[in-house]
Amino acid sequence: MLGKILMALGASSFALGFFEAQTALSGSHKAIESGLLMIIGLPLAIIGVFVWRASVKKRPACAERIKKQATACKHCKAVVGNA
Ligand SMILES: [Zn+2]
Repeated sequence: MLGKILMALGASSFALGFFEAQTALSGSHKAIESGLLMIIGLPLAIIGVFVWRASVKKRPACAERIKKQATACKHCKAVVGNA
């Protein structure tokens, strides 16, 4: 859950900074602000990906990702060993 929030937050602030940079004059306050958004947003999104990946496991049976705490697969409904 936290991973997805971080990913969304990071990606949106990176995108916002990227689009703001298109219209900002170089050296202006807006340019610095958009640069900061991109610098903060990118690692935030990357951290989010790692946090999310650490909380899920890939099932070899159906190749879907489910939460590590799950005892049943939400995709194929099979019971999963919680190991
Ligand atoms: Zn499954």
